[in-house]
Amino acid sequence: MKAMIVHNPGPILTHALAFTDLPIPEPRAGEVLIKIAVCGVCRTDLHVAEGDLPPHRSPVVPGHEAVGIVARLGAGAKGLLKEGDRVGVAWLHATCGVCAYCQRGAENLCTTPRFTGYDEHGGYTEYLTAPADFVYPLPASVSSVQLAPLLCAGIIGYRALRRSDVQPGQRLGLYGFGASAHIVIQIARYWGCEVYVATRGDRHRQLATALGAVWVGEANETPPEKLHAAIIFAPAGELVPVALAALDRGGTLALAGIYMTDVPTMNYAAHLFQERNLRSVTANTRQDGRELLQLAAAIPLHTHTEEFPLEQANEALRRLRHDQIQGAAVLRVADG
Ligand SMILES: [Zn+2]
Ligand SMILES: [Zn+2]
Repeated sequence: MKAMIVHNPGPILTHALAFTDLPIPEPRAGEVLIKIAVCGVCRTDLHVAEGDLPPHRSPVVPGHEAVGIVARLGAGAKGLLKEGDRVGVAWLHATCGVCAYCQRGAENLCTTPRFTGYDEHGGYTEYLTAPADFVYPLPASVSSVQLAPLLCAGIIGYRALRRSDVQPGQRLGLYGFGASAHIVIQIARYWGCEVYVATRGDRHRQLATALGAVWVGEANETPPEKLHAAIIFAPAGELVPVALAALDRGGTLALAGIYMTDVPTMNYAAHLFQERNLRSVTANTRQDGRELLQLAAAIPLHTHTEEFPLEQANEALRRLRHDQIQGAAVLRVADG
């Protein structure tokens, strides 16, 4: 099967993913083999390709927003899924199920998690295997291309939204307006929130306005109203004090990224006092995924996507690198 692999992490302009041929994997006990139709391109793939995240497996097929059809069930996977089901494979590939965090329902904090497209081969290829109980059945009313970005950008965005503690009708700030934020704004608007968007890029600001932002500004600009909650999507640590200073008393800032540059020195009175809260977001639970996919069908969520053939994964990553993707990039692997 054809695949795009990371074999030598580094800047994407000089360390492109290699196009290669791999054997179709065999589903092990409890796993399913999935024939991939599309796979979304997430900023984490860029961090894997560029080596911002230390390699866990090399070479590795990146991609953790894969949508496809169950092609074959491994031993013991019966009952959960059947051949022909359309399913999604996301970042959380598997957890141990026995550590203290898994036991208390915080499987996103598992001490030995495995991640798709990082510890295990991901979706920039024609087939992948995944544990049946970590695979998401998908709502029939939403197309595969529309669903792909929901599997990470959507799920992580949803978890970040929950971690921000924003309540219906409150003022929410979004810093950065890529794949995740353009989904989050739709949920926040569905909850009746006023959304303020600070981001670089005219096209990002135009999309934010089109999706109902009450205010848009430059990346480090301060919204005109104090915010009850905010989320930083940009991997830019220098935005942390900027966003904290824009919070109302008791407000919460959630950091959605898996990677962020260093956070500068902060001033207690200006940035944290008055019970402002600063929270990170680490992966997600399967419950987050199920809730997000239910919302996707109910709202319904609409993702803005730019489609590329699998072979052009490098072009998609380069454009993501330079903030030239409107919404989310999706790689087309096969029909469906
Ligand atoms: Zn665990
Ligand atoms: Zn991701």
